[in-house]
Parts: sequence; structure tokens; C-alpha cells
Amino acid sequence: MFLLVSCQNQTPTDNAEPNSLKKNQIAIDKKEQPVLEKDSEKDSEKDSEKDENQQQPDDEQNNGEQQQPEDNQEADEKEQQKPEDEQETENSEQESKNIARVDESGLAIVSNPESTEVFLNKQRRLPDGYQPPNLVEPNVPFSFEGSNPKRQMRAEAANALENLFSAAEEAQLDLVAASGFRSFETQRYLYNNYVETHGQAEADKFSARPGTSEHQTGLAMDVTTAEVAFALKQSFKQTSEGAWLANNAHKFGFIIRYPEGKTNITGYIYEPWHIRYVGKDIAKTVYENNITLEEYFGYGY
Ligand SMILES: [Zn+2]
Repeated sequence: MFLLVSCQNQTPTDNAEPNSLKKNQIAIDKKEQPVLEKDSEKDSEKDSEKDENQQQPDDEQNNGEQQQPEDNQEADEKEQQKPEDEQETENSEQESKNIARVDESGLAIVSNPESTEVFLNKQRRLPDGYQPPNLVEPNVPFSFEGSNPKRQMRAEAANALENLFSAAEEAQLDLVAASGFRSFETQRYLYNNYVETHGQAEADKFSARPGTSEHQTGLAMDVTTAEVAFALKQSFKQTSEGAWLANNAHKFGFIIRYPEGKTNITGYIYEPWHIRYVGKDIAKTVYENNITLEEYFGYGY
């Protein structure tokens, strides 16, 4: 709920401020305790409700900003630039950040959901009902039996995951996949159940908002190992598998999306098990500079 409330009160400009974002993000993250089941629930649930609300017009927000006076252009250069920047936009600024529009609750809806570089966090979400293309099941060991959509990833990411797991196997490591794709519908279902049971305010504490989960993109996978009983917990970092993953995932185009000590930036607690496919170029830069996607792109919203 915090997110919702604060976001709703924020103007698009306000949202751009990292501080407000971080507060919200942090509050939510805590709920996503590193337990397998919870992790999945969280992510899944994140994507439901707001999507329906997303379709609310952004007009109100844009109108205000667009009406910035152009008169100032004749004033000093310094003065001019201000209004221009603001006018230029919301639109051009949003375009440069791959934002299609801002929904009524203040969440930015990304304009490039199918890109392997799509950037989601607690302020940025997928379009309503987004379903990634080309979902396939990577040929890697999983921590559970039976068919399940959470075995799936986008084809490009699945192929990269197979290469990653092959390298781990060659290094005598026991990497196991636990949870990949989660549909919008599944997340919404879970989220709504939480709201019914606990009320929305509570549900939002441990359940991410609908549409904001990287798992819905088909580009993320939670991985684990036998040493931690196939759980998603921070002690995974201390295992040989966790250590190897942290130092080698980038070679295959993956990043540790929620690194240790970056909660104030990502909004999420340290998740050594959550890897996100972004392609080798970005992964290399992120790894070598020890940064997050937020820092890579230079903005959080
Ligand atoms: Zn995850």
C-alpha cells in the first residue's frame, strides 16, 4: 500500500526522485523474504491489480507540465532551458526512459516489454496482461518435478541459461533452477488472494505489485542448490554454487539483479539467487562496475 499511496500522490516529476522511490521499494522488499514459496508468491502477485488501473489517462499529469511557458525562451538562456526541458518533456524524457505512459497510481508502464533490456522495478511495470513471446523450457535441472510454467523462459534467455548451467556443471557445481516465468494471471490471482485474506495494506508488504515482477518477462530465473535444500535464501551466497554464479553469470548475459548492499537502489533485499538475462554487453558492464540496472540506466523511474 505504501507504494500505491505515495505513488498516487506523486506527480511524474516526483516519481523521478530516487528518494521517494527507494522508500517505497524498501518497504515492499522486506516482505519478499528469501523463502522459495514466498518469492514466487511475491513476484506473482505483484502484477495484478494495478494493471487494470494503469489504463487511466496520463493526460492530467502531462497537461500540467506541457503548459510550461515558452515565453521564457526569450529570457536568459538559463531561464529558457528550464521550461524547455520540462516541456520537451515528459514525452521525450519518457521516451528516453522507455516509458509508454504513467498510470494513475504513478507507475511507469514500460514501452519495450519484449526487449531483453526491459527495465522493471517497483516504479516501472509491464503493460496490462503482458505475455512474453517464445517461452520455452530450458534443458536444465529443476528443484521440482512435473511440468509447470515456471520452468519457462524466453528462448534467448533459456539458451543462455543452458550455457550457464553447462559451465557450472563442468566446474563440478550443482546448480538447480527453481522458478522462471510467472504469468500475469497467476500473479494477479495470488495477489488478489492475499488482499482478500490480509487486506491490501498488508498484502502489499509481502507481495509485489502486479506487472512489476521480472519473472513475468520470462527473462529471470531463481536458482539454488542442494546445500541450501533448494531454498531461495541469502546463505546461497556462501555456497560454491552461489559464489560461482556471482562471478560468472555475466559471461552468459545474466546479472545478479538485486545485489548485496544495493537495497536502497533496487528496492529489493539481496537476492543472490535471482538472475536476470540482459545480454552479455549490459551484464559485463554491470558486473565489472558492480552496479545495478538502476545505476546502469541512470534512473529508477
Ligand atoms: Zn526471483
